[in-house]
Amino acid sequence: MDGYCRCGCGGKTKIATCSDGLTKRGEYRKYIQGHSSRGRTVDDRFDSKVRQQPNGCHIWVASKDACGYGNFSTGTRWVRAHRFSYERAYGLVPSSLYVLHKCDTPACVNPEHLFVGTQADNMQDKIAKGRSSTGGWVLSLETRNKMSVAQLGNKKALGIKKSPELRARMSEAQALRRLKERMV
Ligand SMILES: [Zn+2]
Ligand SMILES: [Zn+2]
Repeated sequence: MDGYCRCGCGGKTKIATCSDGLTKRGEYRKYIQGHSSRGRTVDDRFDSKVRQQPNGCHIWVASKDACGYGNFSTGTRWVRAHRFSYERAYGLVPSSLYVLHKCDTPACVNPEHLFVGTQADNMQDKIAKGRSSTGGWVLSLETRNKMSVAQLGNKKALGIKKSPELRARMSEAQALRRLKERMV
């Protein structure tokens, strides 16, 4: 019934002074503030923060970190949303292993787009997708293939700040070699 909190507490709700996802301005709010998660399971709460995309990705629309990975509070602790989703579907993953994306979309929590890998897989995955170990975007593989080693040695262009130029050039050449080997 309009005007009463849907959690079943019997309390009356206020009229919304601005629209949000649940209520339009001028209508009664559906819940008293803080009551919308009462009585809901962890699964319900998780699923309410996900939007399915035509391309198959299930995008996390709640709290995200700087790299775009979703964060989810189970009620007792904060976890990575994609990891929670994977473990919910396939079972617990040892903390020494990483849950990685096949679709290269950090906000995606579709278990079918995720796989488990080691630290080494994680690093290789990031290099292959053109991301630095810090998660910041660097240059795409396509761009890097077009550049000469000398150009690649320009650490500024690569977003590498601390390593010496020579080291940057060598590790880039090595990474490219590894990538070419994998693509054969
Ligand atoms: Zn209530
Ligand atoms: Zn996806």
